[in-house]
Amino acid sequence: MTVVEVMKHKDSKELVESSGNILAWYGDFDIDRTHRFISRCICGSIPRLEREGPGWIVKCQKCGNEGIGSKKRWQAVLNWNKAPVSEMPDWRELPLFNLDRFNSPGDARNYLKGVRKVLENRLAEAREKSKRPGKRPPGKKYVRNLIGYLAWCIYVQGVCKYWDKKSKENIRVG
Ligand SMILES: [Zn+2]
Repeated sequence: MTVVEVMKHKDSKELVESSGNILAWYGDFDIDRTHRFISRCICGSIPRLEREGPGWIVKCQKCGNEGIGSKKRWQAVLNWNKAPVSEMPDWRELPLFNLDRFNSPGDARNYLKGVRKVLENRLAEAREKSKRPGKRPPGKKYVRNLIGYLAWCIYVQGVCKYWDKKSKENIRVG
């Protein structure tokens, strides 16, 4: 089944809700291992994720550039990747959400719109459920993962938008 077929599949809700399938759905992407996706520093060096107090920060050993620290590892990486001192990665080099199967950043953007919607719906549902008395609240890890996936999805949307615009500019110029 292709990703698009899975999206349309009537059981997609169940597929997304089991964490094992989240991996199959969103690619080789573990929210606790996002240091694999740390962008290059504008000085050309690859910075490192380091401990800082109770949390984490991404710092470049070579030039001293750093991102904004966070208690969450994935958030510290995201903060660095979004900072102007880090380089924009190639959208295809981010295997999150299985984007390497798409032919253009525009196609990837279309797909990500659906992914984002699913994540937003799941999160809203989980938050709603946790408020209802008498219902078993959704697992903390499940909610934590959803928040992380959504934040990364929005970031990757930005990366694809950047490359999509760039490719359209090149067509216009050429
Ligand atoms: Zn640097």
